[in-house]
Amino acid sequence: MSDVYQVYLIVLILIEFILAGLSIIVVRKKPYFGKTLVRLLVVAITTTLAYIMFIISGKETTASWWDTVYFVCIDWLTVFVVSFVLDYCKDEVFRQRKWNFIPVLLVGLADSLMMIILQANGKLLDMSERHIFSGNVWSVKLFWPYYIHTAFCYFNMIIAVIIVLWRRSKEPGFYKNRYMAIVISLIAAVVVNALCYSLDFSIDLSIILYSFVALVVCISTMYIIPHKLRERTLNGVMEDMNSGICCFDINEKCVYVNVRLIEMMAYTGCEMTSDEITGELVRKWIENGSILEHKKCKELRRFEVDGDLYYLQITLSAVMDKGAIVGSFYEVVDQTEVILKQEAELYKATHDKLTGLYNREAFFEKASEELHNFPDRKYYMLCSDIKDFKLINDLFGNKMGDDVLKKQAELIHNASTHAKLIASRINADKFAMLIPVDGFDEDDFVNKIKQMQLLTEGSIYKMHIHIGIYEIDDIEENIQSMCDKARLAIKSIKNNYSLHIAYYDSAIRESLVYEKYVVSEFEGALARGEFCMYLQPQVKADGKAVSAEALVRWIHPTDGMISPGKFIPVLEKAGLIHKLDMFMLETAAKKLAEWNAAGKVDKKISINISVNDFFYIDIYHKLVEMVEKYKIHPEQLNIEITETALMKNFAENIKVLEKIKEYGFLIEIDDFGSGYSSLNMLKDIKADVLKIDMLFLRETENKLRSRLILKSVIRMAKDLGMKIIVEGVETEEQLMFLEEMECGMYQGYYFSKPIPVNLFEEMYLNI
Ligand code: C2E
Ligand code: CA
Ligand code: CA
Repeated sequence: MSDVYQVYLIVLILIEFILAGLSIIVVRKKPYFGKTLVRLLVVAITTTLAYIMFIISGKETTASWWDTVYFVCIDWLTVFVVSFVLDYCKDEVFRQRKWNFIPVLLVGLADSLMMIILQANGKLLDMSERHIFSGNVWSVKLFWPYYIHTAFCYFNMIIAVIIVLWRRSKEPGFYKNRYMAIVISLIAAVVVNALCYSLDFSIDLSIILYSFVALVVCISTMYIIPHKLRERTLNGVMEDMNSGICCFDINEKCVYVNVRLIEMMAYTGCEMTSDEITGELVRKWIENGSILEHKKCKELRRFEVDGDLYYLQITLSAVMDKGAIVGSFYEVVDQTEVILKQEAELYKATHDKLTGLYNREAFFEKASEELHNFPDRKYYMLCSDIKDFKLINDLFGNKMGDDVLKKQAELIHNASTHAKLIASRINADKFAMLIPVDGFDEDDFVNKIKQMQLLTEGSIYKMHIHIGIYEIDDIEENIQSMCDKARLAIKSIKNNYSLHIAYYDSAIRESLVYEKYVVSEFEGALARGEFCMYLQPQVKADGKAVSAEALVRWIHPTDGMISPGKFIPVLEKAGLIHKLDMFMLETAAKKLAEWNAAGKVDKKISINISVNDFFYIDIYHKLVEMVEKYKIHPEQLNIEITETALMKNFAENIKVLEKIKEYGFLIEIDDFGSGYSSLNMLKDIKADVLKIDMLFLRETENKLRSRLILKSVIRMAKDLGMKIIVEGVETEEQLMFLEEMECGMYQGYYFSKPIPVNLFEEMYLNI
């Protein structure tokens, strides 16, 4: 065999291996056209094998039979080329026209049979021995039926080329390439094959080309196109996406950067073109010194450019290859809008709308944070209160009220020029502030308070601001309790118009301890009968008692008698007062029943009702229950309620009072004159008795004027059909003057102090 043939043989064997390898890859990768491609490859392997057998056959008959097999294989190779092309170019149109392939298949079958029959009869080819193995090659003379086979094969190849070209024309962009590779290799195979035959070339090169076709088809369909598609898709996505992307190699040289990143860098103050960009510059821009310590790091960076804020979320990721870092890429997302929105929402949730200071919850949180951040620093908890703030709203309107609050916020906010403070409007006119002790200048602060006392320039109304200060000694203490202590300090100067600032001190601490004591002792004391009813007569000018006010006394086993002023406010605060009031109600009802039984049916008792009772119990039902239980007349039981108490939940409380009155109880307005809305409320409450406090007279500087006012109040009450009791009558002079105005009923030390019931009965009822 000549050298050329030996090389040819080796090439053919190599091709066999390549085709087998390709078949395995196709089977594994399972592309949608895999079945037909494998079929094609198997036929290609058989074809090449048949050709190898043909050229290595020593005998003429064997060689002619292998050559026939080779021809048959070529038939099927072209048939399967068409089949593969149809499958590869599959779309809706082709799928519907599946039957198109059947004629090709039938012709292929006929052609193959024809060749086998002709060969069996020696009518296909004639082989005369030339050089066999030892250097000879078979020379084949072909009879005319062979050309039918050739025509059929060329026809198939042309059909395949046409189908692919037609399909290609319908595809967009780089998808065309996926067809071009097939077209070119098919045409090349046909042309080379034609040349070999027409030039009577002794080596059939088209076999190599067929394999080449298979190789090109496999690679271009399975690898190049998807890879290109992926690359183009990613490129498209990266250019369109809202994130800035840049990628650097190990030397920080830029491999890729998208337009969005260049834009982001520009508006955050780092103008550069995509050519200039390097990893080092990006690090400088985001002020990140580290190259890449971890495989991924994420951080939010804040940029301030010309007063505008930008927030960029920067993610730096490593590009890894076999466990080593080979590059890095940044993903930058503009979070400005999201973060500014979050900040605005957070601000809204943590700040008071009117003053811009922290609201209560945020203040508690911030104050606790500050105390824990600086545990060694001394701090003041400072609370402020505007005396009778409601009055400012009522007298001057809400706008003025708001202005006052804003001014007060400013005052609190600027309490220190050099120390960091945390300020808040806790609610309404109550402000609180946490300030380092060394940052608080009391004199300066008092001066500022004095300056804002006048509502407006030239105003005669003077506002009173009180500040309570608690020096924090335990940072673990509840912030609310710190505020409570500062507020207790305010209470100690509540009625003092000259003092502005009070510190929480030992006296206040003691009263707090006392309060706790009262609360803890109360229920036990009530059960043990330590509370008892005293009566203070309500008399006519001649000293005859018509009725009495029930006033509670706590007869403590060790402390002696405790006056209600000491424990009633504590019980009110603790929500316990209704228990005491109900005890007094029952005691009074029981006593009235006793008096009735003794024939003193015209005697009455007034009991005190606290505003808190309205919240805790159904007063109406309790009253009715007692009246029915002790079979007394409702008119014997008078209900005293203060006007300030009524104001708290006016509309609701009025309804309850009306029901009580309807049932037959008498309503007395207690302490009339000590509140400011007195006159106003009289028109809404149809009370039976007006109790005017003598303080009404004492507190005013001009005696004459105050007496005039008292006179007109008395006249007005009478006009409204109300009876009058003046309480706190201490002197004869007072009585004379009141008698002149025909008040009618009096209560006060001038007649009698509150006295034990038995003494009252003895002195006024002759029981
Ligand atoms: P209040 O209802 O205004 O009762 C009148 C208070 O004035 C009584 O003080 C009485 O002792 C005092 N008083 C009477 N005449 C004079 C006087 O001529 N001069 C002076 N300076 N004071 C006089 P008390 O008994 O200490 O009661 C204080 C307050 O405690 C009462 O004021 C009332 O608000 C409350 N209170 C007393 N008992 C009860 C009760 O059972 N329930 C409720 N909710 N509050 C009660
Ligand atoms: Ca009273
Ligand atoms: Ca009173």
